[in-house]
Order: sequence, then structure tokens, then C-alpha cells
Amino acid sequence: MPHATTTTVERGSRVLVTGANGFIASHTIYALLKAGYDVLGTVRSETKAAAIKATMRDLLPGQAHAFSTSVVTDITQSASYEDILKSYEPSAVLHLAAPFAYNVSNFEKDLMEPAVAGTTAVLTAALAAPSIRRVVHTNSFACIYDASLGMRPGYTYTAKDWCPLKYSDGVSAPAAPVAYRAAKAVAEKTAWSFMEEKKPHFDLISLCPAMVFGPFLNTPTSLPSSIKELNTSNQLVWDVLSAPDGKVPPTKGPVWIDVRDVADAHVTSLANAELSGRRLLLAKSVYCSQEIADVARKVLPSKLAQRVPVGEPGKREAASHFAIDASEEERLLASESKGWKDLDECIRDLGVQLFDIPQ
Ligand code: NDP
Repeated sequence: MPHATTTTVERGSRVLVTGANGFIASHTIYALLKAGYDVLGTVRSETKAAAIKATMRDLLPGQAHAFSTSVVTDITQSASYEDILKSYEPSAVLHLAAPFAYNVSNFEKDLMEPAVAGTTAVLTAALAAPSIRRVVHTNSFACIYDASLGMRPGYTYTAKDWCPLKYSDGVSAPAAPVAYRAAKAVAEKTAWSFMEEKKPHFDLISLCPAMVFGPFLNTPTSLPSSIKELNTSNQLVWDVLSAPDGKVPPTKGPVWIDVRDVADAHVTSLANAELSGRRLLLAKSVYCSQEIADVARKVLPSKLAQRVPVGEPGKREAASHFAIDASEEERLLASESKGWKDLDECIRDLGVQLFDIPQ
């Protein structure tokens, strides 16, 4: 990893955000614009460009001039970014474009290539862009968690841990979640190796969020038009809230953080010189499906709360698996003095939206 520098990307600077229409990226752009940055977001189509522009116009009418978009159809080619970087001259790149999907069949084409070649492409293009001082790479707890060691009760994962999965493990994975974890782990290692080999003029920060839950930006162009379009992580919450027969489904990936805190962490990491070359775990705490159900029944309006399965109230799974420690990251990156948002606030804000989205 590169040694610490004095790099900071201050408010007012230009920032390129890849995958701008995504769940985390849209919150991040909103947070960047509120903080006074100028943002160019890349998306795959003009339709998606129009939607994210309308979202930002609705939320921040006074700052519409500070947000523009560009269509990048193939994120695995560095040439896709060259003209954009040349004309926009950003000070930083936030690389969020990568698939987070389990409904895929060709693990190499659908998950590994966009994540891994997508990382090389954006870093290679950045090499030829002297304006760039910092790249923030959105990775995952998947890059940290080592499933081969089991659920490890008593063990505490931190940003010092590494997922051992390799490219070949992703290509021949037994199931999409394993391939996704391999894609994220290999993409992150690819980025650090690139930094080691090329010693570029910019620094790198790796953000590794746990499962990201939370509300969508509340505009007609950012709310999913049907439940089928839910992003992968919020789908886990909906699977609990909408489970039939009062039964709570099994927990998948028992570590979480609120999307608004992940967005703020992206913004905060730009202007903090101390974070240069750091790998940071973004995780509020462990959770289980039963906890989501219990919280939802407590915080949602009673008409909605009564639709949430009861399961076995109060039952928790924390003792059956690993813990996490991201307390240093919370201290460094949380924008509110109380720290990152708790599950009550997250499920209250998300749950109301979820019940309103057409089936
Ligand atoms: P979304 O699915 O909401 O957004 C993903 C973004 O990446 C979209 O803009 C999407 O474009 C783009 N993208 C996906 N696949 C491709 C591809 N093959 N070619 C070009 N663009 C592509 O996901 P999130 O916002 O949840 O995730 C954003 C990042 O955060 C990802 O890197 C993900 O791995 C990471 N992450 C997410 C977590 C979570 O719980 N949500 C947890 C940890 C990490 P389009 O809309 O056109 O498909």
C-alpha cells in the first residue's frame, strides 16, 4: 500500500463518480453536491443519465449546474474514460460501478470481468490524467470475510483481514454469492497491486462496506418502480418484512451499515489526508433477520408493522458467528457526533418506502 501523503480533495473540487445511478452512488452524489463538490457521474445509458439528473434537480434545485453525466457503455475499457477525464479534469475518482447481483448465470462475464477489468480500466485511465489526486475504490466486507474458516464465533473481523478467493474461484464458484465475493476481493487486490507496480501520481483509499441498507433518495426517478427492481442489499430487508406465514427467513451476510453513512464516508474520505493508502471497513454492527423483524414491528406505523412476520421475538444469532470492529472507521468517518445510524432509524426510513413500492 502507498505510504501516507498530504493529499486532500477539498470542497469545490471536481469529482468523477462511476455507476452514478446506483443505490450507494446516488446517495454519494447527493452528499457530494450538498458538501459543495462539482460532480460528473458516469452511467450506462442516456435514460439512466436523465433519471439521475432529474433526481439531483429535484433534491437540490440550486445546485443542478454542479452535476453532469456522461455515458460509459463499457466500464472494462480504459479508453471509455479517456476523453471524459481529459475534458473534465477531476481531482478525484470514486469508483462505484460494479455489479452487485446474484441473479446471474455467467459468473466470469457478469461478475468477475466488470469488477476486475473495470478496476484496472479506471486506474489505467487515471494514470493519464494528471489532475487526479485521489481514487476511492468502493470494495466490500466480501473482500475481508474468509468463508473458508466458517462462522468463527469469538473472532472479530477488521480491515486487516483478507478474503482469500482468487479469480478462478469466482469463475467456477458453486453459487453467485461466492462469485460476487471473489469478484470484489480480486478487484480490490488488483487495485492495490496496480498502485504498487505503477506508483501513480494519485493515492488510493479502499472502502469496504458491509451489507448496505437504507432508504432510496425520495424522488420519483430514484425510487424503484417495482419490488422486482430492488437492489440486492435492500432486497434482504424486504425478504424479511414480506415473509409469509409469520416466519422470519434466514440471515444472509450478518453485518450491515446505513447507505447514508456509506455516502458520507465517501465524501469524508476525500478531504482527509490521513486516510491516504488506507483500507477501511464500513460496518455499524452485526444483525440478524429476526432483529430486522423485531425493529420493524417496533418502529413502523402500526398498519405496516402488523404485516411484518413475528418469528421468535428477541432471538439473536450474534453468538453463533464472528463479530466486527469498525470503531476506528466510525470515529474517522461518521459525520454525526452520535456515530453511524442505528438499525431503528434505517428500518424506519426504508420500511415505509418498501411497503409503498408496487409489487
Ligand atoms: P447498484 O446495483 O445499485 O449499483 C451498481 C452500479 O454499477 C450501477 O450504476 C450499475 O449500472 C453499475 N454496473 C453494474 N454492473 C455493471 C457493468 N457490468 N457495467 C457497467 N456498469 C455496471 O449497487 P450498489 O449501489 O449497492 O453498489 C455499488 C458498489 O458498492 C458496488 O461496487 C458494490 O459491489 C459495492 N457494495 C455494495 C454493497 C451493498 O450492500 N449494496 C455492500 C458492499 C459493497 P446499471 O444500473 O446500468 O446496471
